[in-house]
Amino acid sequence: MTALLSPARTNALECSVCAWSASADPALWRCPACGAVVDFASAGEPSLGLGLERDGGEGFVRYAAWLGLAQPISLGEPVTPLVTLAAAGGAEIKNEALLPTGSFKDRGAAALISWLAARGVAEVVLDSSGNAGAAIAAYAARAGIACEVHVPATTSQAKVAQARAYGARVLRQPGPRAASTVTAQQAAASRRLVYASQIWHPAFVLGVETLAFELWEQRDPLPESIVMPVGAGTLLLGVARGFDRLLGAGLIERVPRLIGVQSASCTSIAIRFGAAAPEHPPARSIAEGIQVADPPRAGQIVAALTRSGGTALVVGDDLIAAKVSALGREGLLVEPTAAVALAGLDRARDLGVVRPGERIVAIVTGSGLKTVVDA
Ligand SMILES: [Zn+2]
Repeated sequence: MTALLSPARTNALECSVCAWSASADPALWRCPACGAVVDFASAGEPSLGLGLERDGGEGFVRYAAWLGLAQPISLGEPVTPLVTLAAAGGAEIKNEALLPTGSFKDRGAAALISWLAARGVAEVVLDSSGNAGAAIAAYAARAGIACEVHVPATTSQAKVAQARAYGARVLRQPGPRAASTVTAQQAAASRRLVYASQIWHPAFVLGVETLAFELWEQRDPLPESIVMPVGAGTLLLGVARGFDRLLGAGLIERVPRLIGVQSASCTSIAIRFGAAAPEHPPARSIAEGIQVADPPRAGQIVAALTRSGGTALVVGDDLIAAKVSALGREGLLVEPTAAVALAGLDRARDLGVVRPGERIVAIVTGSGLKTVVDA
């Protein structure tokens, strides 16, 4: 692949809040000055070149140079297809379940592990609700990096078994999702391991930019709106940054409107856009992948939604479960978190947020093969 972008793009970090910046160090996962999330110093700069060569692979590995990753770790990813569905009211879905480990997390995991492998990292620890742990474990295995994953005790058994199949050490932690974050960060600190967090590490969000690049190659004109679940926000931020970079490079004329969807148990982003807080919010949702009460990147998520002209909505488990069933009857087995986008699309139509006839893509984030045994 022609180097369209210098790998130097991923060599410096800057704080998202204060003025701190420094050379990128695998041991740094947040700002040492103020504790906020960090990003690569040149993230968002219009630095894409024209023309992708076809000999660099077929899926998102083709964009490695655009990401500043000189030696991408790949498991042979496909371009995920766009499919028109009745369950989406005639809109298209982008089926990310077809990536190697069954979720969109492979985009971020591939970039994160490629970045760490290039810096000689031998062992990582992270926390996950399931899919990111499996994805990072798989790419770590591919790179020969040892991997320890802390998951909530409630995580789907198949996701735990999947990460273990890739050779990861998986530790189930009692308590809420946040408890596994605490134990993973403690393990990183006490054993001097690299904390390969899909939420905190900027290389993970960087990899998700490829979803926007693929949509740009797949659809001209681009969809007017893109609907997706929001948990930690790495999907939304990756897509937003990918489109921002295409816009900055003059490759597109406008960014699609982004619509984020949360479950009734975690509504902090949607409330910022005027959604009513549930009077009695449930402690958990069947959408385990977006069970993130207080996203560290919340400020960035709200800014990205606002900049695109979009919004955030809340959907209940009843509508999510109905969409899982409807998708199954059309031949697609998805996990509840992946049906959130379609539930949100129905809600957006009810609220008049999207117009009839609008070109819409809903992102189906993960396979139902991992959760069907829990139903
Ligand atoms: Zn800072």
